[in-house]
Amino acid sequence: MIKLIGIEKSFNPGKSNELHVLKGISTEVKDGELVAIVGKSGAGKSTLLHIIACIDSYDSGEYYIDDLLIKNMSEKKLANIRNEKIGIVMQDFSLVEDFTVLENIMIPLDFAKNKRPNAKELAKEVLKQVNMENFAKEKVRNLSGGEKQRIAIARAIINNPSLILADEPTGSLDSANTEAIMDLFFSLNKQGKTIIIVTHDKELAEKCHRIIEISDGRII
Ligand code: ADP
Ligand code: MG
Repeated sequence: MIKLIGIEKSFNPGKSNELHVLKGISTEVKDGELVAIVGKSGAGKSTLLHIIACIDSYDSGEYYIDDLLIKNMSEKKLANIRNEKIGIVMQDFSLVEDFTVLENIMIPLDFAKNKRPNAKELAKEVLKQVNMENFAKEKVRNLSGGEKQRIAIARAIINNPSLILADEPTGSLDSANTEAIMDLFFSLNKQGKTIIIVTHDKELAEKCHRIIEISDGRII
């Protein structure tokens, strides 16, 4: 599903504060795989995940999703690919605190090509999937960390993506919530979703099919 060949990425290229973050990342992720990306803080994990999510560009190398080369594409085309194939759970949830749960998880539907007539029903179904059906009208600001993470996951899966990306999804959770969130990812994976999780948690990473460790911008 995913093929990365010699991906390089620098921030502030050509300037005195240039930072070479990814130094030739090559790997493949197959359909239906559940993969963990681990590595120290600052290693380049989020940067790599953002490139895979088509929300950040890379400088050289090649990145393919389903044999489609993601390179020099218009923002419109990238947005279409994201809507069609990818759900992402960002490190800080990236929810709108003043919106209700239902409003938050319906955000991606507004960007999708075909606005669905049954958007609310769909949103409620997805809420059920993450065990949050009783929170539909609650403002996100009133939720706990674990609840917010469920809503972030609900929003990531509402367009039925084949690829789910999650950046430290259990980073701010206690152990009970960590287990519940991981069970959610395992069950999505059993339903056939390909999942890539960035994590600090060694124990959690070992429950995945494969671990990719990044150190100083390289896979080790
Ligand atoms: P990780 O997720 O592994 O902790 P990141 O991919 O977030 O690491 O960051 C890798 C390095 O790139 C860090 O040194 C970080 O400060 C830097 N970095 C990340 N994003 C930017 C940016 N937009 N501009 C400049 N530097 C950045
Ligand atoms: Mg990070």
